[in-house]
This record gives sequence, C-alpha cells and structure tokens, in this order.
Amino acid sequence: MKIPITVKPGTTARVKTGNWRELYVPEIDYEKCIGCSMCEKICPEGICFSTGEKNSKGKIFFEKDLDYCKGCGLCAEICPAKAIEMKREEK
Ligand code: SF4
Ligand code: SF4
Repeated sequence: MKIPITVKPGTTARVKTGNWRELYVPEIDYEKCIGCSMCEKICPEGICFSTGEKNSKGKIFFEKDLDYCKGCGLCAEICPAKAIEMKREEK
C-alpha cells in the first residue's frame, strides 16, 4: 500500500501563506539592489521576483510578494548588497 507523504503539494499559490508570517517582514531598498537574484534563488516560497524595472543606477531590482512571505529572513541574510532589512510588522 502506498502512503502519500505530501498531500496536495503546490497549494501556496491558492492559500495566501503570508498570513502565517509572524513579527518580521522584508523591506527592500530598491536603490541598493544590484539585481543578483540571490533572494529569488534562496526564498523557500519562491516569491522573490524581478519586475524588470530598473533603479536610478540602471540595475533591475527585485520584489517580494508579501501575500506569501513567511518572514524567514533568508533573503535578507543572503543579499550581498544589504538591500533587504527585516522590519517588525504591525498587524
Ligand atoms: S523573508 Fe523568507 S519567505 Fe519572505 S521573501 Fe524573504 S526568503 Fe522569502
Ligand atoms: S539578493 Fe539583494 S541585491 Fe540581489 S536581487 Fe535580491 S534584493 Fe537585489
């Protein structure tokens, strides 16, 4: 008998998991962003993305879809430009 380990994977897009977030939320300084996409690669929710827009330095900057962000802080940890700061969120 097969026992499923994962039940209905890929539901993140349907369930706004950002509601699970506690305390901290990433705040991005678009001017500091160098468009390296490290945050996109490390984000466990896959919600860091480029809009294709450029900052005043001509660098394409990255956004976060906070509807799905769990506030883990990995993006801020890995950002080489220190463009992401975890800020306490008032709910
Ligand atoms: S805090 Fe975590 S979940 Fe939120 S955007 Fe950064 S890496 Fe993704
Ligand atoms: S890791 Fe930092 S510098 Fe790189 S794309 Fe993300 S916000 Fe921009």
